[in-house]
Amino acid sequence: MIILVLNCGSSSLKYQLLDMKNNDSYDLLAKGLVERIGMEMSRLKHQGADKEALVVDRPISDHTEAIRAVLEALTDKKCGVLDSLEDIEAVGHRVLHGGAKLTASKRVDDALIAQVEKCCDLGPLHNPANLKGIYAVREVMPSTPQVAVFDTAFHQTMPDYAYTYAIPYRYYEQYDIRKYGFHGTSHRYVSAKAARFAGLNMEDSRIITCHLGNGSSIAAVYNGKCVDTSMGLTPLDGLIMGTRCGAIDPSVVTYIQKKEGLTADQVENMLNKESGLLGVSGISSDFRDLGQAAEKGEYRAKLALKKLIHGIIHYVGAYVAEMNGVDMIVFTGGIGENNARLRRRVCDNLTYLGLQFDNEANDCRGKDVMITLPESKVKAAVICTNEELVIAQDTMRIVLNEEL
Ligand code: AMP
Repeated sequence: MIILVLNCGSSSLKYQLLDMKNNDSYDLLAKGLVERIGMEMSRLKHQGADKEALVVDRPISDHTEAIRAVLEALTDKKCGVLDSLEDIEAVGHRVLHGGAKLTASKRVDDALIAQVEKCCDLGPLHNPANLKGIYAVREVMPSTPQVAVFDTAFHQTMPDYAYTYAIPYRYYEQYDIRKYGFHGTSHRYVSAKAARFAGLNMEDSRIITCHLGNGSSIAAVYNGKCVDTSMGLTPLDGLIMGTRCGAIDPSVVTYIQKKEGLTADQVENMLNKESGLLGVSGISSDFRDLGQAAEKGEYRAKLALKKLIHGIIHYVGAYVAEMNGVDMIVFTGGIGENNARLRRRVCDNLTYLGLQFDNEANDCRGKDVMITLPESKVKAAVICTNEELVIAQDTMRIVLNEEL
């Protein structure tokens, strides 16, 4: 089954075209990105399997036009991989916020769209963009089934005491203000893959998944279900990230707001775009750049990196306590999969768990590897995430089941 997976941002659209042979086996036919949608000059970058890369620079005014451009690239005589658009049997969308009602992946219909629209207040940076992608596909490929896969869904099993904020309860009742958590597709995928990889019984396991990338979050997965996670109402909470601040005393916000006379939007922008690794280092939001700066002895680059490591150790410790133990710790995401030094520094602080680190095995990047010694009481592993595959798997399952 050929499935187009879309991840729409406010001015970008990332895509992958997968040919799903069955749930676990697939061919990646093509992938690409449209950037700067709605700006003076946009760019489409497309790469088909075993084909020449295609780069198109031209104005692309909105997401509908972007989808048309992607479909043209997919069927392009030279760089394309499809004979006809009819070959695309379903479209799967990454949708950021499903709120408390959308607890699993679902076929797109009017009722689902109405629910996602309701969640726009909770995910103002992403949900409107995700909806634009859904509308655009409806317009361009009206008879192709669409499925929405939510970043929040996996975390909906958290107990009430984990997701409730200790503010007046009426805010939860009136505005649904609570912890939701994000990167759920990744945490779900890597926790299940890790259990299989280590031969653990998922129904009787305690796994901590560390998704460390430009955005980072950690989840506590007890018997296959999420019981806590570090992101909150929005993806701003938890660990220090590329440009997001992570957990801070809420008074910091109002203090700066008052001191500098900032509006709510300005302070939100500062916390989301100017903080995190970039804000602390003053150099870059990219982990690799900071590594290089730290090597040269830049104090603030070192500080930013130490803060991330400290945060990971902090949340892992908290989740070990919450689950009364842990069987396995998983590293994933751009940083988690590629940075051996960070993994070592985190695991150096976990010997209290009986974790015995395997330095040699840890010298790896971008592949699934156990990084603890066989006799280690608690296991640790690098497990590569693949959110697009999960979206394609869910899309196929839902579309085929409905067709039965
Ligand atoms: P993601 O958001 O998962 O794509 O991850 C992006 C982050 O991963 C950035 O901070 C990158 O610096 C980091 N990253 C990506 N590739 C590597 C690599 N080969 N080595 C170290 N860090 C990497």
